[in-house]
Amino acid sequence: MKFYSTRNKESMVSLSEAVLRGLAADGGLYVPASKFNNRNKLLDPCSLKDTANELLTPFCLEDFTKEEIAEMINEAFNFPLPVIELQKKLFVCELYHGPTLAFKDFGGRFIAQLMSKCIQKKSDKLIILVATSGDTGSAVASGFYNVPNIEVIILYPAGKVSALQEKQLTTYGGNITAIKVNGTFDTCQQLVKQAFGDRDLNSQVCLSSANSINIGRLLPQMVYYGVVARQMHDATGKKPTMMVPSGNFGNLMAGLMALKMGEPIKHFVAVVNANKVVPDYLSSGNYTPTASVQTLSNAMDVGAPSNMERIQWLYNNNVQAMAADFSSISISDSETLQAMKQTYSDFGYVADPHTSVAIAAYKKVALQGPVVIMSTAHPAKFKETVEQALDINIELPSQLQAIVIKQSHALQMDAEYASLKKIILENQK
Ligand SMILES: *Cc1c(COP(=O)(O)O)cnc(C)c1O
Repeated sequence: MKFYSTRNKESMVSLSEAVLRGLAADGGLYVPASKFNNRNKLLDPCSLKDTANELLTPFCLEDFTKEEIAEMINEAFNFPLPVIELQKKLFVCELYHGPTLAFKDFGGRFIAQLMSKCIQKKSDKLIILVATSGDTGSAVASGFYNVPNIEVIILYPAGKVSALQEKQLTTYGGNITAIKVNGTFDTCQQLVKQAFGDRDLNSQVCLSSANSINIGRLLPQMVYYGVVARQMHDATGKKPTMMVPSGNFGNLMAGLMALKMGEPIKHFVAVVNANKVVPDYLSSGNYTPTASVQTLSNAMDVGAPSNMERIQWLYNNNVQAMAADFSSISISDSETLQAMKQTYSDFGYVADPHTSVAIAAYKKVALQGPVVIMSTAHPAKFKETVEQALDINIELPSQLQAIVIKQSHALQMDAEYASLKKIILENQK
Protein backbone atom coordinates (compact mmCIF):
# COMPACT_ATOMS: atom_id res chain seq x y z
CA MET A 1 0.00 0.00 0.00
CA LYS A 2 1.12 3.56 -0.70
CA PHE A 3 0.78 6.57 1.56
CA TYR A 4 0.24 10.27 0.93
CA SER A 5 0.26 13.48 2.93
CA THR A 6 -2.93 14.83 4.52
CA ARG A 7 -2.04 18.04 2.65
CA ASN A 8 -1.30 16.63 -0.78
CA LYS A 9 -2.84 13.50 -2.28
CA GLU A 10 -0.71 13.73 -5.39
CA SER A 11 2.66 12.55 -4.20
CA MET A 12 2.55 8.95 -3.05
CA VAL A 13 5.31 7.30 -1.08
CA SER A 14 6.01 3.75 0.04
CA LEU A 15 5.57 2.67 3.66
CA SER A 16 9.37 2.71 4.14
CA GLU A 17 9.59 6.28 2.91
CA ALA A 18 6.66 7.39 5.03
CA VAL A 19 8.20 5.76 8.09
CA LEU A 20 11.71 7.11 7.47
CA ARG A 21 10.49 10.64 6.77
CA GLY A 22 8.02 10.75 9.64
CA LEU A 23 6.46 14.05 8.63
CA ALA A 24 5.74 14.79 4.95
CA ALA A 25 7.76 17.58 3.34
CA ASP A 26 4.67 19.80 3.13
CA GLY A 27 4.17 19.52 6.90
CA GLY A 28 1.26 17.10 6.54
CA LEU A 29 0.94 13.63 8.08
CA TYR A 30 1.14 10.43 6.09
CA VAL A 31 -2.08 8.45 5.69
CA PRO A 32 -2.92 5.29 3.71
CA ALA A 33 -3.62 6.11 0.07
CA SER A 34 -6.04 3.24 -0.50
CA LYS A 35 -9.41 2.80 1.06
CA PHE A 36 -9.50 0.81 4.24
CA ASN A 37 -10.39 -2.72 3.53
CA ASN A 38 -13.59 -3.06 5.56
CA ARG A 39 -14.11 -6.79 5.61
CA ASN A 40 -17.67 -6.45 6.82
CA LYS A 41 -17.88 -10.00 8.02
CA LEU A 42 -17.73 -11.54 11.43
CA LEU A 43 -14.15 -11.72 12.51
CA ASP A 44 -12.94 -14.64 14.54
CA PRO A 45 -11.14 -13.82 17.74
CA CYS A 46 -7.50 -14.70 17.49
CA SER A 47 -4.16 -14.17 19.16
CA LEU A 48 -2.27 -10.91 19.26
CA LYS A 49 0.25 -12.04 16.67
CA ASP A 50 -2.36 -13.51 14.30
CA THR A 51 -4.48 -10.37 14.52
CA ALA A 52 -1.35 -8.31 13.90
CA ASN A 53 -0.62 -10.36 10.83
CA GLU A 54 -4.13 -9.90 9.52
CA LEU A 55 -4.31 -6.16 10.13
CA LEU A 56 -0.76 -5.12 9.27
CA THR A 57 0.04 -7.24 6.24
CA PRO A 58 -2.03 -5.17 3.77
CA PHE A 59 -0.09 -2.06 4.77
CA CYS A 60 3.37 -3.68 4.71
CA LEU A 61 3.25 -6.10 1.81
CA GLU A 62 4.55 -3.72 -0.82
CA ASP A 63 7.72 -3.08 1.17
CA PHE A 64 8.38 -6.32 2.99
CA THR A 65 8.09 -10.04 2.39
CA LYS A 66 5.62 -12.12 4.39
CA GLU A 67 8.57 -13.59 6.29
CA GLU A 68 9.90 -10.13 7.16
CA ILE A 69 6.45 -9.04 8.34
CA ALA A 70 6.11 -12.13 10.51
CA GLU A 71 9.58 -11.50 11.94
CA MET A 72 8.77 -7.90 12.84
CA ILE A 73 5.48 -8.91 14.46
CA ASN A 74 7.18 -11.65 16.42
CA GLU A 75 9.74 -9.24 17.84
CA ALA A 76 7.30 -6.42 18.50
CA PHE A 77 4.21 -8.13 19.92
CA ASN A 78 5.96 -10.25 22.50
CA PHE A 79 4.08 -9.35 25.67
CA PRO A 80 0.66 -10.21 27.10
CA LEU A 81 -2.60 -8.25 26.68
CA PRO A 82 -4.81 -9.08 29.67
CA VAL A 83 -8.48 -8.09 29.76
CA ILE A 84 -9.88 -7.81 33.30
CA GLU A 85 -13.59 -7.90 34.09
CA LEU A 86 -14.35 -5.29 36.77
CA GLN A 87 -18.07 -5.94 36.80
CA LYS A 88 -20.67 -7.24 34.42
CA LYS A 89 -20.12 -5.59 31.01
CA LEU A 90 -17.23 -3.44 32.24
CA PHE A 91 -13.73 -4.46 31.26
CA VAL A 92 -10.22 -3.05 31.52
CA CYS A 93 -7.81 -3.87 28.76
CA GLU A 94 -4.29 -3.57 30.14
CA LEU A 95 -2.13 -2.29 27.33
CA TYR A 96 0.89 -1.75 29.53
CA HIS A 97 2.70 -5.06 29.86
CA GLY A 98 5.55 -4.21 27.49
CA PRO A 99 9.10 -3.35 28.59
CA THR A 100 8.39 0.30 29.50
CA LEU A 101 5.00 -0.33 31.09
CA ALA A 102 2.89 1.94 28.89
CA PHE A 103 0.79 1.19 25.81
CA LYS A 104 3.34 3.10 23.75
CA ASP A 105 5.42 -0.08 23.61
CA PHE A 106 3.03 -1.37 20.94
CA GLY A 107 3.93 1.50 18.63
CA GLY A 108 7.52 1.89 19.83
CA ARG A 109 8.50 -1.72 19.33
CA PHE A 110 6.93 -2.11 15.92
CA ILE A 111 8.32 1.12 14.54
CA ALA A 112 11.78 0.12 15.76
CA GLN A 113 11.42 -3.10 13.78
CA LEU A 114 10.20 -1.22 10.70
CA MET A 115 12.98 1.32 10.84
CA SER A 116 15.78 -1.11 11.44
CA LYS A 117 14.56 -3.14 8.45
CA CYS A 118 14.40 0.05 6.34
CA ILE A 119 17.86 1.14 7.43
CA GLN A 120 19.37 -2.25 6.59
CA LYS A 121 18.38 -1.47 3.03
CA LYS A 122 20.21 1.90 3.13
CA SER A 123 23.64 2.88 4.37
CA ASP A 124 22.99 6.22 6.10
CA LYS A 125 23.00 6.84 9.78
CA LEU A 126 19.52 7.76 10.94
CA ILE A 127 18.71 10.25 13.70
CA ILE A 128 15.34 9.77 15.32
CA LEU A 129 13.86 12.81 17.01
CA VAL A 130 11.07 12.34 19.52
CA ALA A 131 9.13 14.76 21.64
CA THR A 132 7.59 13.05 24.63
CA SER A 133 4.98 13.94 27.20
CA GLY A 134 6.28 11.07 29.30
CA ASP A 135 5.89 7.62 27.82
CA THR A 136 6.74 7.79 24.13
CA GLY A 137 10.39 8.58 24.82
CA SER A 138 11.10 5.47 26.82
CA ALA A 139 9.08 3.18 24.56
CA VAL A 140 11.05 4.45 21.57
CA ALA A 141 14.37 4.33 23.43
CA SER A 142 13.67 0.77 24.53
CA GLY A 143 12.79 -0.27 20.99
CA PHE A 144 15.87 1.34 19.42
CA TYR A 145 18.46 0.84 22.15
CA ASN A 146 21.69 -0.47 20.61
CA VAL A 147 20.22 -0.71 17.11
CA PRO A 148 23.22 -0.07 14.80
CA ASN A 149 23.26 3.12 12.70
CA ILE A 150 20.44 4.71 14.64
CA GLU A 151 20.75 7.60 17.12
CA VAL A 152 17.73 8.61 19.19
CA ILE A 153 17.26 12.14 20.56
CA ILE A 154 14.42 12.57 23.04
CA LEU A 155 13.01 15.97 24.03
CA TYR A 156 10.97 16.08 27.23
CA PRO A 157 9.49 18.99 29.20
CA ALA A 158 11.43 19.81 32.39
CA GLY A 159 9.42 19.19 35.56
CA LYS A 160 6.41 17.85 33.68
CA VAL A 161 7.07 14.11 33.61
CA SER A 162 6.92 11.78 36.62
CA ALA A 163 10.15 10.92 38.48
CA LEU A 164 10.07 7.36 37.19
CA GLN A 165 9.29 8.44 33.65
CA GLU A 166 12.33 10.73 33.80
CA LYS A 167 14.50 7.86 35.05
CA GLN A 168 13.26 5.72 32.18
CA LEU A 169 14.17 8.40 29.66
CA THR A 170 17.58 9.32 30.97
CA THR A 171 19.24 6.07 31.98
CA TYR A 172 19.83 4.34 28.66
CA GLY A 173 22.98 6.10 27.46
CA GLY A 174 24.60 4.58 24.35
CA ASN A 175 22.73 5.65 21.23
CA ILE A 176 20.00 7.39 23.27
CA THR A 177 20.33 11.13 24.13
CA ALA A 178 17.77 12.75 26.42
CA ILE A 179 17.21 16.53 26.38
CA LYS A 180 15.33 18.26 29.15
CA VAL A 181 13.60 21.29 27.62
CA ASN A 182 12.47 24.32 29.60
CA GLY A 183 8.92 24.33 28.23
CA THR A 184 5.87 22.14 27.77
CA PHE A 185 5.26 19.06 25.61
CA ASP A 186 3.83 21.33 22.93
CA THR A 187 7.13 23.26 22.94
CA CYS A 188 9.04 20.00 22.45
CA GLN A 189 6.71 18.95 19.65
CA GLN A 190 7.11 22.37 18.00
CA LEU A 191 10.93 22.11 18.12
CA VAL A 192 10.82 18.67 16.51
CA LYS A 193 8.54 19.96 13.75
CA GLN A 194 10.91 22.88 13.20
CA ALA A 195 13.82 20.49 12.74
CA PHE A 196 11.88 18.60 10.07
CA GLY A 197 11.14 21.83 8.25
CA ASP A 198 14.79 22.98 8.33
CA ARG A 199 16.18 22.37 4.85
CA ASP A 200 19.73 23.18 5.82
CA LEU A 201 19.66 20.62 8.61
CA ASN A 202 17.97 18.00 6.47
CA SER A 203 20.63 18.38 3.81
CA GLN A 204 23.23 17.37 6.39
CA VAL A 205 21.50 14.65 8.40
CA CYS A 206 18.97 11.92 7.83
CA LEU A 207 16.20 12.71 10.30
CA SER A 208 13.17 10.74 11.27
CA SER A 209 10.57 10.85 13.98
CA ALA A 210 9.00 8.15 16.07
CA ASN A 211 6.19 10.27 17.48
CA SER A 212 2.62 9.36 16.73
CA ILE A 213 2.98 11.74 13.78
CA ASN A 214 4.78 8.70 12.30
CA ILE A 215 2.39 6.30 10.57
CA GLY A 216 4.67 3.43 11.63
CA ARG A 217 3.64 4.04 15.23
CA LEU A 218 -0.07 4.14 14.52
CA LEU A 219 -0.55 1.04 12.38
CA PRO A 220 0.48 -1.43 15.13
CA GLN A 221 -1.93 0.23 17.55
CA MET A 222 -4.89 -1.01 15.48
CA VAL A 223 -4.01 -4.50 16.57
CA TYR A 224 -5.03 -4.43 20.23
CA TYR A 225 -8.39 -2.91 19.31
CA GLY A 226 -8.97 -5.81 16.95
CA VAL A 227 -8.00 -8.42 19.53
CA VAL A 228 -10.20 -7.00 22.29
CA ALA A 229 -13.18 -6.05 20.14
CA ARG A 230 -13.38 -9.56 18.71
CA GLN A 231 -13.04 -11.14 22.14
CA MET A 232 -15.84 -8.96 23.53
CA HIS A 233 -18.06 -9.46 20.52
CA ASP A 234 -17.56 -13.19 20.66
CA ALA A 235 -18.29 -13.38 24.39
CA THR A 236 -21.29 -11.03 24.55
CA GLY A 237 -22.70 -10.97 21.02
CA LYS A 238 -22.41 -7.17 21.08
CA LYS A 239 -19.91 -4.69 19.79
CA PRO A 240 -18.05 -2.94 22.62
CA THR A 241 -17.66 0.77 23.30
CA MET A 242 -14.02 1.71 23.89
CA MET A 243 -12.97 4.40 26.36
CA VAL A 244 -9.67 5.86 25.18
CA PRO A 245 -7.51 8.16 27.37
CA SER A 246 -6.37 10.72 24.80
CA GLY A 247 -3.69 13.38 24.43
CA ASN A 248 -2.13 13.57 20.99
CA PHE A 249 -5.01 11.44 19.64
CA GLY A 250 -2.79 8.78 18.10
CA ASN A 251 -4.45 6.07 20.13
CA LEU A 252 -7.90 7.22 18.99
CA MET A 253 -6.79 7.51 15.35
CA ALA A 254 -5.53 3.92 15.49
CA GLY A 255 -8.87 2.83 16.93
CA LEU A 256 -10.76 4.61 14.15
CA MET A 257 -8.59 2.87 11.57
CA ALA A 258 -9.37 -0.48 13.23
CA LEU A 259 -13.06 0.40 12.99
CA LYS A 260 -12.69 1.27 9.29
CA MET A 261 -10.94 -2.07 8.80
CA GLY A 262 -14.12 -3.74 9.99
CA GLU A 263 -13.27 -4.55 13.60
CA PRO A 264 -16.47 -5.02 15.66
CA ILE A 265 -16.47 -1.74 17.61
CA LYS A 266 -19.62 0.21 18.44
CA HIS A 267 -18.26 3.59 19.42
CA PHE A 268 -15.27 5.33 20.95
CA VAL A 269 -15.18 7.80 23.78
CA ALA A 270 -11.99 9.86 23.59
CA VAL A 271 -11.46 10.96 27.16
CA VAL A 272 -9.27 13.97 27.84
CA ASN A 273 -8.20 15.83 30.96
CA ALA A 274 -8.47 19.63 31.29
CA ASN A 275 -6.88 19.92 27.82
CA LYS A 276 -10.16 19.90 25.99
CA VAL A 277 -9.69 21.22 22.43
CA VAL A 278 -11.34 18.13 20.95
CA PRO A 279 -14.54 18.02 23.04
CA ASP A 280 -14.88 21.74 22.33
CA TYR A 281 -14.39 21.07 18.62
CA LEU A 282 -17.06 18.36 18.52
CA SER A 283 -19.57 20.57 20.28
CA SER A 284 -18.82 23.86 18.51
CA GLY A 285 -17.40 22.81 15.13
CA ASN A 286 -14.46 25.17 15.69
CA TYR A 287 -11.02 23.68 16.07
CA THR A 288 -8.84 25.96 18.20
CA PRO A 289 -5.63 24.44 19.54
CA THR A 290 -4.31 26.22 22.62
CA ALA A 291 -1.41 26.02 25.05
CA SER A 292 -1.52 22.92 27.24
CA VAL A 293 -2.25 22.95 30.95
CA GLN A 294 -0.62 20.62 33.45
CA THR A 295 -2.68 17.82 35.03
CA LEU A 296 -2.22 14.56 36.95
CA SER A 297 -2.44 12.61 33.69
CA ASN A 298 0.64 14.29 32.27
CA ALA A 299 1.02 12.11 29.17
CA MET A 300 -2.26 13.61 27.99
CA ASP A 301 -1.29 17.26 28.54
CA VAL A 302 -1.52 18.24 24.90
CA GLY A 303 -3.08 21.50 23.72
CA ALA A 304 -2.51 20.95 19.99
CA PRO A 305 -3.10 17.24 19.35
CA SER A 306 -1.23 16.46 16.14
CA ASN A 307 -3.30 13.47 15.06
CA MET A 308 -6.42 15.61 14.70
CA GLU A 309 -5.15 16.42 11.22
CA ARG A 310 -5.42 12.71 10.36
CA ILE A 311 -8.84 12.40 11.97
CA GLN A 312 -10.09 15.42 10.02
CA TRP A 313 -8.74 13.81 6.85
CA LEU A 314 -10.46 10.52 7.67
CA TYR A 315 -13.83 12.26 8.04
CA ASN A 316 -13.36 14.99 5.39
CA ASN A 317 -13.66 17.57 8.17
CA ASN A 318 -17.23 16.48 8.75
CA VAL A 319 -17.84 16.90 12.47
CA GLN A 320 -21.20 15.10 12.37
CA ALA A 321 -19.57 12.08 10.77
CA MET A 322 -16.89 12.13 13.45
CA ALA A 323 -19.50 12.35 16.19
CA ALA A 324 -21.16 9.20 14.85
CA ASP A 325 -17.98 7.23 15.55
CA PHE A 326 -16.63 8.96 18.63
CA SER A 327 -17.57 11.31 21.41
CA SER A 328 -15.14 13.22 23.55
CA ILE A 329 -15.38 14.26 27.17
CA SER A 330 -13.15 16.24 29.53
CA ILE A 331 -12.45 15.09 33.10
CA SER A 332 -10.95 17.21 35.89
CA ASP A 333 -8.12 16.15 38.19
CA SER A 334 -10.50 15.87 41.14
CA GLU A 335 -12.85 13.60 39.16
CA THR A 336 -9.81 11.54 38.17
CA LEU A 337 -8.73 11.04 41.77
CA GLN A 338 -12.29 10.29 42.81
CA ALA A 339 -12.56 7.59 40.13
CA MET A 340 -9.19 6.11 41.13
CA LYS A 341 -10.35 5.83 44.76
CA GLN A 342 -13.78 4.48 43.90
CA THR A 343 -12.34 1.85 41.58
CA TYR A 344 -9.99 0.71 44.31
CA SER A 345 -12.69 0.55 46.98
CA ASP A 346 -15.29 -1.08 44.71
CA PHE A 347 -13.14 -3.61 42.90
CA GLY A 348 -9.73 -3.59 44.62
CA TYR A 349 -8.35 -2.49 41.25
CA VAL A 350 -5.45 -0.03 41.06
CA ALA A 351 -5.63 2.21 37.99
CA ASP A 352 -3.02 4.78 36.97
CA PRO A 353 -4.11 8.44 36.55
CA HIS A 354 -4.58 8.15 32.75
CA THR A 355 -6.74 5.06 33.05
CA SER A 356 -8.63 6.74 35.89
CA VAL A 357 -9.56 9.60 33.58
CA ALA A 358 -11.30 7.06 31.34
CA ILE A 359 -12.99 5.35 34.30
CA ALA A 360 -14.29 8.73 35.50
CA ALA A 361 -15.79 9.31 32.05
CA TYR A 362 -17.45 5.89 32.14
CA LYS A 363 -19.17 6.94 35.35
CA LYS A 364 -20.31 10.22 33.81
CA VAL A 365 -21.88 9.02 30.59
CA ALA A 366 -24.61 6.42 30.36
CA LEU A 367 -23.33 3.60 28.15
CA GLN A 368 -24.81 0.25 27.29
CA GLY A 369 -22.31 -2.53 27.73
CA PRO A 370 -19.95 -4.00 26.96
CA VAL A 371 -17.54 -1.19 27.70
CA VAL A 372 -13.78 -1.54 27.54
CA ILE A 373 -11.52 0.90 29.35
CA MET A 374 -8.23 1.10 27.46
CA SER A 375 -5.66 1.18 30.27
CA THR A 376 -2.60 2.99 29.01
CA ALA A 377 -0.03 2.77 31.82
CA HIS A 378 1.04 0.69 34.79
CA PRO A 379 0.14 2.46 38.06
CA ALA A 380 3.75 2.13 39.30
CA LYS A 381 4.83 4.68 36.70
CA PHE A 382 2.86 7.25 38.68
CA LYS A 383 3.75 5.86 42.07
CA GLU A 384 3.57 9.12 44.08
CA THR A 385 0.12 10.12 42.83
CA VAL A 386 -1.40 6.67 43.16
CA GLU A 387 0.10 5.87 46.57
CA GLN A 388 -1.07 9.18 47.94
CA ALA A 389 -4.58 8.86 46.55
CA LEU A 390 -5.14 5.27 47.67
CA ASP A 391 -2.96 5.22 50.77
CA ILE A 392 -1.18 2.06 49.65
CA ASN A 393 2.34 0.99 48.74
CA ILE A 394 2.98 0.05 45.17
CA GLU A 395 5.74 -2.39 44.44
CA LEU A 396 7.87 -1.50 41.49
CA PRO A 397 7.77 -4.08 38.72
CA SER A 398 11.19 -5.55 37.92
CA GLN A 399 11.54 -3.36 34.79
CA LEU A 400 11.42 -0.26 37.00
CA GLN A 401 13.47 -1.59 39.93
CA ALA A 402 16.49 -1.95 37.70
CA ILE A 403 16.16 1.64 36.51
CA VAL A 404 15.80 3.57 39.77
CA ILE A 405 19.33 2.76 40.86
CA LYS A 406 20.88 3.90 37.58
CA GLN A 407 22.46 7.32 37.08
CA SER A 408 20.44 9.84 35.01
CA HIS A 409 22.03 11.73 32.13
CA ALA A 410 20.22 14.52 30.32
CA LEU A 411 21.26 17.59 28.39
CA GLN A 412 19.31 20.70 29.28
CA MET A 413 18.21 23.50 26.98
CA ASP A 414 15.83 26.44 26.63
CA ALA A 415 13.14 26.25 24.00
CA GLU A 416 15.43 27.62 21.31
CA TYR A 417 15.67 25.87 18.01
CA ALA A 418 19.33 26.84 17.49
CA SER A 419 20.32 24.81 20.57
CA LEU A 420 18.50 21.74 19.29
CA LYS A 421 20.09 22.04 15.88
CA LYS A 422 23.55 22.18 17.42
CA ILE A 423 22.88 19.01 19.42
CA ILE A 424 21.57 17.18 16.36
CA LEU A 425 24.59 18.12 14.28
CA GLU A 426 26.93 16.98 17.03
CA ASN A 427 25.11 13.67 17.22
CA GLN A 428 25.62 13.10 13.53
CA LYS A 429 29.39 12.84 14.01
C1 LIG B 1 0.63 8.88 25.39
C2 LIG B 1 -0.30 8.48 26.45
C3 LIG B 1 -1.68 8.75 26.36
C4 LIG B 1 -2.28 9.53 25.20
O1 LIG B 1 -2.21 8.84 23.99
P1 LIG B 1 -2.36 9.63 22.60
O2 LIG B 1 -2.14 8.63 21.55
O3 LIG B 1 -1.29 10.68 22.62
O4 LIG B 1 -3.71 10.23 22.59
C5 LIG B 1 -2.52 8.29 27.37
N1 LIG B 1 -2.01 7.63 28.44
C6 LIG B 1 -0.71 7.37 28.57
C7 LIG B 1 -0.23 6.66 29.78
C8 LIG B 1 0.20 7.78 27.59
O5 LIG B 1 1.49 7.52 27.73
